[in-house]
Amino acid sequence: MGKEIIMFPLAAMGHLNPMVELGKLLIRHASISITILISQSPSIDNKPIDSYISRVSSAHPHIFFHRLPPVPQSSNSKTATFLDHFHLTIPYLKTYLSASSAHAIILDFFFDAALEVANEFHLPCYYFFASNASNLAAFLYLPTLHNQLNASFKDLGDNPIHFPGFPSPIPASDMPIRISDRTSETYKAAIVQFERLAKSSGIIVNSFQSLEPKALRALANGDCFPGRPMAPVYFVGPITANDVEDKDSSNEFRHESLAWLDGQPGGSVVFLCFGSMGSGISEEQNREIAVGLERSGQRFLWVVRRSQPAAAASGITVLTKKEQDLEAVLPEGFLERTKGRGLVVQSWAPQVAVLRHPAVGGFVTHCGWNSALESIVAGVAMIAWPFYAEQRMNKVFLVEEAKLAVEMRGYKNGIVVSDEIEERVRWLMKSEGGKELRARAAVVGESGRAALQEGGSSYKTMVEIVRLVNNIGGGELGCSGEQR
Ligand code: UDP
Repeated sequence: MGKEIIMFPLAAMGHLNPMVELGKLLIRHASISITILISQSPSIDNKPIDSYISRVSSAHPHIFFHRLPPVPQSSNSKTATFLDHFHLTIPYLKTYLSASSAHAIILDFFFDAALEVANEFHLPCYYFFASNASNLAAFLYLPTLHNQLNASFKDLGDNPIHFPGFPSPIPASDMPIRISDRTSETYKAAIVQFERLAKSSGIIVNSFQSLEPKALRALANGDCFPGRPMAPVYFVGPITANDVEDKDSSNEFRHESLAWLDGQPGGSVVFLCFGSMGSGISEEQNREIAVGLERSGQRFLWVVRRSQPAAAASGITVLTKKEQDLEAVLPEGFLERTKGRGLVVQSWAPQVAVLRHPAVGGFVTHCGWNSALESIVAGVAMIAWPFYAEQRMNKVFLVEEAKLAVEMRGYKNGIVVSDEIEERVRWLMKSEGGKELRARAAVVGESGRAALQEGGSSYKTMVEIVRLVNNIGGGELGCSGEQR
């Protein structure tokens, strides 16, 4: 086995999973080994991650996992954020690296502070940005914008903010909460974070070149980080979860949703799923969704996950007896009346497999980037209904630029009413406009899959990354300084 690369993802499925897939891709391209560091905290339940890790470990002998010791409970546990968590992890990372013979490190972009540690150990340091390049372009411009604007995003209402490389202006109200107040600690941390990313050996984004030509150009020209040298950006996607590859062969269980889809006509079902955290959807909102779906007359597969903040944060679903009773939260008789044309599943469905099922014709999504990419790869058009984090920026990109989604406009009002849900679902599945959107999604899906094939843009980029890794120690420190 050749060089060893360390990966340090955020220990949450939405970050761990794409990082592992990146590791698998690297191994497919080169004779290297990957060690993935898992940080632990007493306030995070690692159970969902544990079973995932054991599946990946048994299927991929060159991917190793190493658990760092649990960080001490933060003294300020009420407001403790993942920033505290990362800070407390740094000493463990140092201890690990001092005994390691690794050749390079790939960090989750939230572990930005580890750049200084990597430098201390003379390790080429790359960041994996588990979102799209347009968002990266916008965030890298944040330090520059900070000096141009003298107001916080939260005070600018729907005023458009222009970022080089982000294809359309973003309403200030759609900027993520963590950077909405320029006096907050999280905002200040974000400025430092993106300065660090720009100073790394390279930034790896989970996207493909033909999806984001404007961001590609702006990043290559240095427009997002003006006046200073910027790390090269590598488009290696679309990297999506591969649940087939990691399936435990002893487990023949096939999820009920897939069996149900088998019995539905091609392209007829709209799939609704709101990410691994359930997006805190209230019971009132679930009832609006139910009424909208019923009135739309369309076939649907709906993953219902009730709001349970503590459990959701850990990625684990603990349903009480009352919560298990779907009838109790959905409108009376809804399940009976929609039987046959609709299926409601509790908590979780195998999303990648569902989206790839030929019966699925549309996806109502919270716009998490993994979900969006999975839909893009499957060639499925979306209804964009963002909730938190950078999902609203993803919505702007998907609707305005990529033209792969139609917007669920009511998201800004706190609750989306049944009338809009009914109208959007019917539009996507039945109207001429919806048909065009779906046809476009199929074409873009094709180009996304092609990017990963031999000769495709992401394939070539991966070959380049592997060349850099293989040259580490041979005079070249993994930073080509040139853009693709
Ligand atoms: N996911 C899934 N089934 C579910 C809910 C989520 O397989 O019922 C997966 C989905 O395929 C995606 C990930 O969980 O890979 C969610 O990541 P995303 O970035 O979209 O959103 P987040 O959960 O981080 O908000």
